[in-house]
Amino acid sequence: MGQSRQQRIANPDSKYFLRIDESTRDMSSADIPFRKEMAYEYGTAQGVASGVRRIVAENPSAFTHVGTNTYIVGEGEVAVIDPGPMIEQHVENIKDALAGETVTHIVVTHTHMDHSPASNWLKQLVDAPIVGTYPSPLNGGQTVEAHQEDFAPDEEIANGDIIAGPGWTLEAVHTPGHMSNHHCFALKENNLLFSGDHVMGWNTTIVSPPDGNMREYLDSLRVCLARDEDLYLPGHGPEITNTKPFVQAYLNHRLMREAQIAKFLDEGADTIPELVRRIYTHLPEKMHGAAARSVQAHMEHMVGTNRAICDGPVTASSVFVPGPASA
Ligand SMILES: [Zn+2]
Repeated sequence: MGQSRQQRIANPDSKYFLRIDESTRDMSSADIPFRKEMAYEYGTAQGVASGVRRIVAENPSAFTHVGTNTYIVGEGEVAVIDPGPMIEQHVENIKDALAGETVTHIVVTHTHMDHSPASNWLKQLVDAPIVGTYPSPLNGGQTVEAHQEDFAPDEEIANGDIIAGPGWTLEAVHTPGHMSNHHCFALKENNLLFSGDHVMGWNTTIVSPPDGNMREYLDSLRVCLARDEDLYLPGHGPEITNTKPFVQAYLNHRLMREAQIAKFLDEGADTIPELVRRIYTHLPEKMHGAAARSVQAHMEHMVGTNRAICDGPVTASSVFVPGPASA
């Protein structure tokens, strides 16, 4: 699968290029207006927008903020977005919050283990169809985030598809990159976007090959930039209100990273571990594995756009030289 994707990105496109200069040299994730504070209480459904409630699952980690956000859309007849990980108490909490109401759809943004697995349990309790997309076969690739291989939606969704109930209309927006089957969902009545793990207010998202893909990720950020939602409710962490500047900062951050990698390649750094050492000077050692996955995603993209060259497919142990498009 990595090969076919690389072939699809054979034509270099200037929208992926950013020249490094003094102004971009010092850009880091500090340039993204992150916000980590979030008022929440595990197990409690809390109104976060008109007709939208959030219940946070108790699965805090370095990758999930305080846990996965499960959203309830509508009142009386509702959709549940991302039932979360296999935590029985969380599924009970969702069911309790919905006493007297009917679940019409169980909606899944993507099939990482912290988002989709509880959909099967919830389905047994509330007898509603699971709406989402099958994961791509992963080609034996190592991933940072485990995913639910046996996810099987009752209704398969594609870009632009609509799911609706009384007072709410959700439009699926295919946003591959973090995961190939990732969809955001626009709530038309509120002009807001459930942004899943594609855009999060508290941190950058992980793009980990082979299923994670940097070219797709950057293109999916541009999909968000072309849309008008002025509120994002992500899969982890607090809401995002300054949506366009936020997504632009997210995009600039990735372009800056590639410009920085191009410069380090020029200076002789030629492997992913060496690039990680030069880029992530302040990152704790325990996060270097995740950082290496992210650099590998950038290297796939840079090889695909002729800014780097390596012998064969990009792997964790590839050796790189600057490509013709980086001159
Ligand atoms: Zn995820």
